[in-house]
Amino acid sequence: MVYLFQFRRYRLPFRTPVRTAHGPWGERVGLLVRLTDATGRVGYGEAAPIPWFGTETVDEVEAACRELGEKVDEARLAAVPGRLGCLRNALTAAQADIAGGGAISSAAGSQERRVKDNAPYLPVAALLPAGRAALALIGAKAEAGFRVFKWKVGVEDVADELVLLDDVCATLPNGAKLRLDANGAWDRRQAERWLERCADRPVEFVEQPIAAGARGAADVLLGLAGDFPTPLALDESLTGGEDIERWLGAGWPGVFVVKPALLGDAEAALARLAKAKAAVVFSSALETAVGAKAALQAAFVWPGEARALGFGVWPLFADARFDGPYLAPFIHWEDVARLNPEAVWNALS
Ligand code: MG
Repeated sequence: MVYLFQFRRYRLPFRTPVRTAHGPWGERVGLLVRLTDATGRVGYGEAAPIPWFGTETVDEVEAACRELGEKVDEARLAAVPGRLGCLRNALTAAQADIAGGGAISSAAGSQERRVKDNAPYLPVAALLPAGRAALALIGAKAEAGFRVFKWKVGVEDVADELVLLDDVCATLPNGAKLRLDANGAWDRRQAERWLERCADRPVEFVEQPIAAGARGAADVLLGLAGDFPTPLALDESLTGGEDIERWLGAGWPGVFVVKPALLGDAEAALARLAKAKAAVVFSSALETAVGAKAALQAAFVWPGEARALGFGVWPLFADARFDGPYLAPFIHWEDVARLNPEAVWNALS
């Protein structure tokens, strides 16, 4: 099969800068790919790298796209090196898009049917800002129907945030669950203080308490996971299929936060996680609707427990044409099916 290959690079300002451990993040850069087969069928994919997450850069993606040229065959696509995981992901998604199976192909029947059997809609976690500002938002989010809340921690002093934790828990609706995301901000002792406090509170998990690159991080994370009842989740520690393989091999007992957009071969990595019966939370990489569609399709066919999606990010871009489904307590399969990669592609012309 020979395809016509095209790509468009984008630079899209966020509506409001995203707060990260590396300072404010004002705009998303990435690249959309488009494949057209000999019969005129078209497929789209998105490479949305996050270099500080360990992926390639968008410049590397673009250089590789220029090298691919206008006509590519399957062997050429398969030869894109593994270190360009985001580009490989985009090309695989575009091929699957053409094959009609969506980003994750389906040998066992149509994706539509698998979704209907599996989950016609999935819950979404509401994002709460760091610090006291979280308190003012919980009421309205609960009123809207959210029951899983994610609070950014590790931003202020530990003692101050631990006092706030009680206020946050007291403000949650009955039966709600709280996810804490430290983005690797703590050392072992600070993480222990938090985990002691979380033990008898409605905390679903604590995400990335220790930085992925900290000395001995894997041993500390495994130690903490064994010492405290609250589950831990890996996010920054997972940048590709090799990381997933390594943590499965180490017997990681907690949650895997998976950003399908950042996995070189998402289908293989998810198959490994499913086989291991791992706890998985699907999460946004702050990509456009093209990558989001592929990631959400993967979430909808996931055979394991349907945990709330980490996709409570929209509206995200200053230009709403690039956004995924509007923020709601549930994303329905129809919302995902309706996302139109061609419209996103055209919006970049
Ligand atoms: Mg996280």
